[in-house]
Amino acid sequence: MSSQHFVIVGAGPAGGTAAAALRRQGFSGRLTVLGRESYRPYIRPPLSKHYLRGDADRESLYLDEAGWYADNDVRLLTSTVVAGLDLGSRLVHLDHGESLNYDRLLLATGATPRRLDVAGAEAPGVHYLRTLEDSDSLRDELAQGGKRVVLIGSGWIGLEVAASARMLGNEVTILAREAVPLSQSIGDELGGFFTEQQTRHGNIVRPSVSVDSLVADGGRVSGVRLTDGEIVPADVVIVGIGATPNVDLAQAAGLVLDNGVKVNERLASSDPHVFAAGDVANAFHPAAGVHIRSEHLSNAMKAGVAVAKIMRDEDVVYDDLPTFMSQQFDVTLQFAGYAPLIDGAELVTRGDVNTGSFSVFWLRDGRAVAGANVNIPDPEKALQGVIRRARRIDAAMLRDVDVPLESL
Ligand code: NAP
Repeated sequence: MSSQHFVIVGAGPAGGTAAAALRRQGFSGRLTVLGRESYRPYIRPPLSKHYLRGDADRESLYLDEAGWYADNDVRLLTSTVVAGLDLGSRLVHLDHGESLNYDRLLLATGATPRRLDVAGAEAPGVHYLRTLEDSDSLRDELAQGGKRVVLIGSGWIGLEVAASARMLGNEVTILAREAVPLSQSIGDELGGFFTEQQTRHGNIVRPSVSVDSLVADGGRVSGVRLTDGEIVPADVVIVGIGATPNVDLAQAAGLVLDNGVKVNERLASSDPHVFAAGDVANAFHPAAGVHIRSEHLSNAMKAGVAVAKIMRDEDVVYDDLPTFMSQQFDVTLQFAGYAPLIDGAELVTRGDVNTGSFSVFWLRDGRAVAGANVNIPDPEKALQGVIRRARRIDAAMLRDVDVPLESL
């Protein structure tokens, strides 16, 4: 029986996975999980997809059964705000006055949606999407269909929610600041493909536009004014313009920050007793040779498992290949690779884009640094294997669908 006390700040997917992994890996000391939300840890991807559309129930989102925490002697404090950290004395101060000592601390504080900073942005009818409650209130607006829905931002939230809103029978306009939606994440070619899927299903995509303000008649939002004066009518506005890592506690405590909490390949911060995982952690990736901060569920869960081992002093590093997936209408994207290395890489397409089922790879110095399957089932994860092996590849062979990926 360990006499150690591990404290996890953040009861999202990374914190929840780490807590479960610690117990499943045999950690027998005290374990406390502190969460600001009122729910036990749950996953967020369905909030813009199945759950938003009413095709998944709330129970299916939770990482563990309600009784798991008590059954496994995990003290889960929901609706709990951490007021500060004292790294010297290894204390976590809660805002209601209690202080908890720790031997190891995990920061899994997540990220917060970036707020739209224009006139009218606080009007009723303007939504953000991060939490279960956000998804519930958005569903209340969209479920009946027939609404004019305007998305501000054309990243993953923008395009996934746009697809769901359309599938529920709404008229959807996406206001994109960039010339090609999703180009920041997956480049112009693949971003263009996903833009076409939106328009094919009747959504309007407006590239290269800037929002001036929101128009609110009678208190509720009624439109989005663009900087050229045009007003795009709206019954519902959803803002998805990125998220910022929740570093306030880490910053106040004096931890080193760099686009999040800067951690090494063992997810350790500048204080050896403090670790970070999930959206808030900018972690050095040994295979990529750069720090990567990934705001995707797979990272939160894989890092949660890895950090549990590391906090228990196992001799491992967090070097999993980053992956994520997206679903929009009938298209499923499976991405794997090192996002920061895509910029400037050579894009190789495998298969015919016009069929809607194809793969792409990004090559740097002849080696695949990222790849994506679009509507290609890949149970053996052959695409991931190409990136993991990091061999020099002839682009022509990679393009040739008759050459098995396993041989490259
Ligand atoms: P995102 O994917 O990072 O996209 C943000 C978008 O907002 C970009 O198109 C960006 O354009 C634009 N933008 C930024 N500031 C803006 C402004 N002031 N006005 C207008 N547009 C602006 O972020 P998100 O869609 O909000 O999603 C939040 C986080 O959740 C992201 O990290 C995302 O990866 C994650 N998420 C993941 C999934 C998934 O894994 N399938 C699904 C949903 C959400 P520029 O390129 O011009 O900056």
